Amino acid sequence: MNLKINFLGSPNFEVVRNRPLKYIIIHYTGMKNQKDAIKRLQSKVAKVSCHYIISKKGKIFQLVKDKHVAWHAGKSKWKKDINLNINSLGIELVNKGHEIFPKSQINSLIILLKWLRRKYNINPAMILGHEDISPNRKKDPGPRFPWSVLKKNNLAKKR
Ligand SMILES: [Zn+2]
Repeated sequence: MNLKINFLGSPNFEVVRNRPLKYIIIHYTGMKNQKDAIKRLQSKVAKVSCHYIISKKGKIFQLVKDKHVAWHAGKSKWKKDINLNINSLGIELVNKGHEIFPKSQINSLIILLKWLRRKYNINPAMILGHEDISPNRKKDPGPRFPWSVLKKNNLAKKR
């Protein structure tokens, strides 16, 4: 399967990434539908964004370029690193929060992660959920997220 990405853009990013890319953070949107989620990720008022969002059918959209800092993680910490927006890519999965992630969506995520991991030499141990880096505030991608499938593809180390 080819990697097809539609660029949509978002005003919510910073141009300068002053730490090298080290992490990929997985989220769910937690909103009632894809349209609203994208609208929020492009809203100057909401001041949130991500690099990629994947629809339930597996379509991949890009909101912020990889070289820019997207505002997806907020207050966050992993081992000695803090404020992981600066050195991470953020991927949102369209999901209300309690839904099963469709196979087509996970397949696209795996293709995207394989490509990004290779491109930026990301350690699979650094592919994490928002809940891992902001455990007191965040629950995404949640207990339904199939970490075992990622592990099988050498795209995660935990769990
Ligand atoms: Zn999140």
